[in-house]
Amino acid sequence: MSITDLHWMTAHELADLLAAGDVSSVDIAEAVIARTEDVEPKLDAFLTRTDDRLRADAKASDERRRNGETRSRFDGVPIGYKDVFVTKGIQSTSGSRILEGFIPPYDATVVDRGTAAGLPLHGKLNMDEFAMGSSGENSGFKVTRNPWDLERVPGGSSSGPAAAVAAGVVPWAWGTDTGGSVRQPAALTGVVGVKPTYGRISRFGMIAFASSLDQAGPFTRSVKDAAALIEIVAGGDRNDSTCLPESAPDLLSGIDAGIDGMRIGLIKEVENAEGIAPGVRSRVDEAYARLEKLGATLEEVSLPSFEHGISAYYLVAPAECSANLARFDGVRYGLRVDADDIVSMMSKTRDAGFGDEVKRRIMLGTYALSAGYYDAYYGKAQKVRTLIMRDLERAYESVDVIASPTAPTTAFRLGEKTDDPLAMYLNDVFTVPYPLAGNGAVSVPCGTSADDGLPVGLQLAAAALDEPTLFRAAYAFEQDLAWAGTPESRPSI
Ligand code: GLN
Repeated sequence: MSITDLHWMTAHELADLLAAGDVSSVDIAEAVIARTEDVEPKLDAFLTRTDDRLRADAKASDERRRNGETRSRFDGVPIGYKDVFVTKGIQSTSGSRILEGFIPPYDATVVDRGTAAGLPLHGKLNMDEFAMGSSGENSGFKVTRNPWDLERVPGGSSSGPAAAVAAGVVPWAWGTDTGGSVRQPAALTGVVGVKPTYGRISRFGMIAFASSLDQAGPFTRSVKDAAALIEIVAGGDRNDSTCLPESAPDLLSGIDAGIDGMRIGLIKEVENAEGIAPGVRSRVDEAYARLEKLGATLEEVSLPSFEHGISAYYLVAPAECSANLARFDGVRYGLRVDADDIVSMMSKTRDAGFGDEVKRRIMLGTYALSAGYYDAYYGKAQKVRTLIMRDLERAYESVDVIASPTAPTTAFRLGEKTDDPLAMYLNDVFTVPYPLAGNGAVSVPCGTSADDGLPVGLQLAAAALDEPTLFRAAYAFEQDLAWAGTPESRPSI
């Protein structure tokens, strides 16, 4: 690859060029800014551009390198953040009009640790409002497009990070995954996306959607980059009591050990499911065969509770969001619509600031938690959650990793599901069970569908905290497929 292709490189490739002195961080910053100028008018991936900050961070990084004070191997490699992460002095909206103009006084831990590793900040990226959605179309501001086909969605809720990484705008970016919001958009745009085990990464400074499910996750162009990014930010944080005190896992050193003898489970209920697009089905079947060729054994596992994942998720997540979003009251943050008394001020503010999907979730959640309905809805959903957890624990007694498609279809057309919330929710059918159980999972590209030429993702999941196995499997697959990094893996936007 020539140095003029800097914007297509992985973080590891950029780090090597920086270490060799072949490019400066300022060169990289200028390359990604030029690329952003080029494609952003078509893509709409950003909510806030921070080009001045990016240039200043890059300059400071070059200075550190000259003085032998480099903060990490990736010092000088730019990164983007979903707008759900609060950033000191930079507007952070979580995709909602109710937070328009909100300038946080501190950085989220994920941002803070990225800065401590020397990663220059390349803007705040678009998302579905408060991370509720599977297409990006619920953003309060704009609709991000899929770089593979501008008439299609990039997936959601992390629409901006997925589109930006896939389109060569930034080598890597942080998103969040509550029910699939990293893995599904990663699949739909042909990049790597990870939902780490709950508690791996601090949620401090992540604008909360559903606190028992939310987890930060990376979007990258290679499995190794995702491993490196998790290593940079993982580990205990006294600002988040749900963040495990364990130190960051070592994911890179054993990543190339191969998968000979690894036991990979295929879910009976998924393999027999209807509604998986033929082009997705055949790519994923090829992926299973490839895993077997690499020495893994394929075994059937049964997860009877899996099919109830969507119902449980769409009760638990709205219930938690109805509580979390109570803080947006026109007093503390962002928007205020003035009125004669405080109650009407709050209700007018919330009416004007929240979009339809957010209102729908607040109503669903409030209903599910109210007296008389709590046991019937929220309580039952929590029981289903326990069943999913148990089913998965049982499965992991006989297999190391579970494989499936990440999403049942490739990227759908803009507007195709906006009038049918249930159809939109069903896109998450394969991704929601893992966050409900707290387990980690990754989506790795497996090429494009023969039906429409759009990317397909393979989902791999492992037991809680077993990210090392997950990354070993994902890396072996990625290397053998040899698609990532080739011209075919780059949309011609
Ligand atoms: N699509 C799911 C939802 O709308 C998941 C969102 C997410 O993971 N943040 O809730």
